[in-house]
Amino acid sequence: MDFLFQFFFPVRCSGCQAYESSGFCSVCQNKLPKDTVLFSIPHVLQGAALGFYAPPLEQAVRDLKFNHQKIIGKTLGKMVGFMVREKGWDFHCIAPVPMDKKRWQKRGYNQAEVIGMGVSSVIGKPCKNILRTIRLVSHQVGLGRGERLKNVAGAFGVREREAVSGRSFLLVDDVVTTGATLSECAEVLMKSGAESVYAACAARDALNQS
Ligand SMILES: [Zn+2]
Repeated sequence: MDFLFQFFFPVRCSGCQAYESSGFCSVCQNKLPKDTVLFSIPHVLQGAALGFYAPPLEQAVRDLKFNHQKIIGKTLGKMVGFMVREKGWDFHCIAPVPMDKKRWQKRGYNQAEVIGMGVSSVIGKPCKNILRTIRLVSHQVGLGRGERLKNVAGAFGVREREAVSGRSFLLVDDVVTTGATLSECAEVLMKSGAESVYAACAARDALNQS
């Protein structure tokens, strides 16, 4: 299926539109700022993103989420993996931010999980769907920090408590805006007995920094 799709819709680089099977060519990757963007949110030990949500990173994330370019998620994930390795963070397992069923059915994949698989291929730690959505979450776009926190409160749970207790995790998502979602996920993990939680994202949206 992926092969056929790529035959009819060959993958182009999100940055320069050149044909590029990874979806993000090395020239455009090298154009990204070398400094990663750190963020600090409750329940998360340390958080980092590859860069701000601006071209070409923004287009790469958009292609992953809205243009069915799943392969870009793997490429972004590998980049996130190299970033995480450089930071020297130690954890047992990669946990993607979960996606509700309705949205999953619409997209066919969870972009956070695709990025997580890319991270896993670099780090060598497993990527597991430790978290799940308990209820539907409305779109966060246009909401302020307080509204976002309310919107995600109680939205997530862990699949197996035994898989969390005493272990440390790397939460992975595509974009961090206010950090409400990541913070809620981290709190759920900590309340289930996790030792520590790190967070890594492809991009940091600067528009809603607070
Ligand atoms: Zn390019």
